[in-house]
Amino acid sequence: MYASNDIPFLDLVTPHVELEEELTAVFRRALFTAGFVGGPMVEEFEQAFAAFCDTSHSVAVNSGTDALRFAIMACGIESGDVVLTVPNTFIATTEAISQAGAVPEFIDIDENTYNMSVERLQEFLEQGCTRNTSGRLVSKRHQRPVTAIVPVHLYGQMADMDSILRLANQYGLTVIEDACQAHGAEYFSGKLNRWMKAGTMGQAAAFSFYPGKNLGACGEGGAVTTNDAAVAAKIRMIREHGQAKKYYHDMEGYNGRLDSVQCGLLQVKLGHLAQWNARRRDRAAEYDRLLAGNEAITCPYEPSWSRAVYHLYVVRSADRDGLAKHLKAAGIGTGIHYPVPLHLQKAYKGMNYRETDFPVATRLAGEILSLPMFPQLSSEQQTRVTDGILGFVQDVLISQ
Ligand SMILES: *Cc1c(COP(=O)(O)O)cnc(C)c1O
Repeated sequence: MYASNDIPFLDLVTPHVELEEELTAVFRRALFTAGFVGGPMVEEFEQAFAAFCDTSHSVAVNSGTDALRFAIMACGIESGDVVLTVPNTFIATTEAISQAGAVPEFIDIDENTYNMSVERLQEFLEQGCTRNTSGRLVSKRHQRPVTAIVPVHLYGQMADMDSILRLANQYGLTVIEDACQAHGAEYFSGKLNRWMKAGTMGQAAAFSFYPGKNLGACGEGGAVTTNDAAVAAKIRMIREHGQAKKYYHDMEGYNGRLDSVQCGLLQVKLGHLAQWNARRRDRAAEYDRLLAGNEAITCPYEPSWSRAVYHLYVVRSADRDGLAKHLKAAGIGTGIHYPVPLHLQKAYKGMNYRETDFPVATRLAGEILSLPMFPQLSSEQQTRVTDGILGFVQDVLISQ
């Protein structure tokens, strides 16, 4: 635990204390019915989560990583296909791609939104690919067909989906959203002339219920959303040993189910998610206001077409490590999401990328700092965070 006047990066205890009665009732229901796997609590939550996301289906699975892996498999991405994503994400994104049998390839990000750059994507499709003898789009790097894009809605802000979908349609690619950080985020589609929720625009989307996410289980969890009944049915099969009905297996699948208890707990929390997200947006606006006009700190950029849900509130500073150290000394918790872009991770040495390959993502990794962000963050706590930041900036300016 943190000292009482310290400001944690994340407070997971308070919401559980606030919801103690409702959450313990879920445990009792599970204990007294011995309904631990499958059953009404899973179905009720799946329906509620699909309704929250404005999709016709949601399938609960055991993690966000498996949600993405199963979605990729169910959308017909074949073994050895190249799937495009960004280098500045949690490794689960590329693990899911690889473990579905596909090959991840990176596209650099936009300087302002930190999500996939549409310019870089277009450049890749035009210059990083060729057509093989049967006319298929093939990655020059891998000499394999490019069949899908996995945009990541990083920090709770959706990628520019209209533009990504336009290119995907033009090149015949499937789009699967990594919405693991973006429950409830919205995007104004100029094409459809309305606000669209994360998880509704791709063929399918993956959500994570890891405890620290905007909607977090009391353990591991995830879900796939889709408007495609066939994709939903396929994922149900994949998560349950490939069975079409009990002990009749159409294929080999996985044990990928989400526990009934977790679904029950998530159902309770889901009732509060819209309000929690609204609080996060308020807190973000307050950070923006308190840090405004400060040259040394770059606040998050929210385009007019975006309503982000601020899973993380990430600032940029040329002396990020100095700033983090200064805040730590003041009892303020921070995080870095993520310190090493995926193309420079040891795990991906074999991909033979160079540091200069994705300059925006690489530069960003050295400058980003995630500030305390959770719905229960008080304005007093927040002022202490920004006072700490402004104090550091002053000290640095004076010492120069
Ligand atoms: C959390 C996260 C995942 C993985 O989710 P798990 O539930 O931890 O497996 C995947 N992608 C992104 C962007 C995430 O933040």
